[in-house]
Amino acid sequence: MKNDNVVWHQHKVTRTARAEQKRQQPCVLWFTGLSASGKSTIAGAVEQKLFELGHHTYLLDGDNVRHGLNKDLGFSDTDRVENIRRIGELSKLFADAGLIVLSAFISPFRSDRRLVRDLMADGEFVEIYMNTPLEVCEQRDPKGLYQKARKGEIKNFTGIDSEYEVPEHPEVILNTAECSVEECAALVIDYLRTHSIIHD
Ligand code: ADP
Repeated sequence: MKNDNVVWHQHKVTRTARAEQKRQQPCVLWFTGLSASGKSTIAGAVEQKLFELGHHTYLLDGDNVRHGLNKDLGFSDTDRVENIRRIGELSKLFADAGLIVLSAFISPFRSDRRLVRDLMADGEFVEIYMNTPLEVCEQRDPKGLYQKARKGEIKNFTGIDSEYEVPEHPEVILNTAECSVEECAALVIDYLRTHSIIHD
């Protein structure tokens, strides 16, 4: 920390009180996987379902964050680390506000995901690994990014010339090549129910 005189202020409305008012267990649903593996699509479907059930959510999405908070960051290894560190802190603040946070970022490095997991209390970090094969992602290529990366027009592209480190112990694994959007979203909702994060 740069300033030793900064003291954490304990406010009267607590994290627990905010969560109780919302009748839910705040947590971070962390979607990780290759570009086009389905993170945004599934996170959106899960959020919609939670919203319909009356839950309080917030979806943080890779591209959107890079337009604002992290617009000073690129795709070098150092910038990717800082990108995830900031998003982790942001996710933690939203969870502190009582929300179920859905974070959809490639987040290719194990150590970065570990850093975010360690920011959260036990059971509040739910790592959701999009186990979609590279060939399928490349075939989808909704933004034409793989094509550009193959031609060398984009450098450090995850899966092509930048590594993706597969999660070792994710809470949920989704293979979107074999399951529909609805099936994948239902698996996440099931996890939340069986782990008492939601109760309906
Ligand atoms: P990411 O956020 O990982 O980059 P997106 O969700 O933006 O991925 O893109 C995934 C693409 O794959 C979308 O065009 C989506 O419609 C398509 N898709 C096809 N089948 C599935 C599925 N079962 N789950 C998620 N996405 C799917």
